[in-house]
Amino acid sequence: MLALAACIPRGEPRGPAPRTDAPGRADRNDPATLQCHLDLARERVGFRVLADRSFGGGCTALGAVQLTEIGTPVTNLGAMTCPLARQFARWTRETVQPAANRHLGSPVRRIETFGTYACRGVNGQAGARLSEHAFANAVDVAAFVLADERRITVADHWRGDDGDARRFLRALHEGGCRSFAIGLGPDSNAYHYNHFHFDMGRGPYCR
Ligand SMILES: [Zn+2]
Repeated sequence: MLALAACIPRGEPRGPAPRTDAPGRADRNDPATLQCHLDLARERVGFRVLADRSFGGGCTALGAVQLTEIGTPVTNLGAMTCPLARQFARWTRETVQPAANRHLGSPVRRIETFGTYACRGVNGQAGARLSEHAFANAVDVAAFVLADERRITVADHWRGDDGDARRFLRALHEGGCRSFAIGLGPDSNAYHYNHFHFDMGRGPYCR
């Protein structure tokens, strides 16, 4: 997909680091993962635990879940590390819906994403440092459909004429930076003109 290929987060300010001590590399039996499952259950989030997988090229989905019910329908969510899934559900509940009601006077009926897992390097080059997407530890969020049928997109509304929509998107970006380790939006670099990139890698970093 073109949109996925466009997400090349080379602006992410993390140097090379051994993967073993990086966040988001805990397998499904890791105590942190099991605690995360309990958090999801307590917060009434529907999910399935996925098998740990290695895809070659260093790409993995370890300790991942498939979200099935977070209170708001979301498109294109694949495997997500449990901490990423937990923070995504919290961001939707605590930031997205309140901001929609406050700035736009309507709840969000659907969140549209460009997906989560993708095996690729940060520069799209063999041998380059892998993106957090290559560990199912990142999500790209593109648009929000409101109950009143309006569709707010990062591409059209981040710098658009509609002040309410601009304030709504800025509230989501700001809240995302609190919920996730890394938050990147259209102001970070040209690759992010049409989506927010959120991941649970080495942070905090917000731009
Ligand atoms: Zn991304």
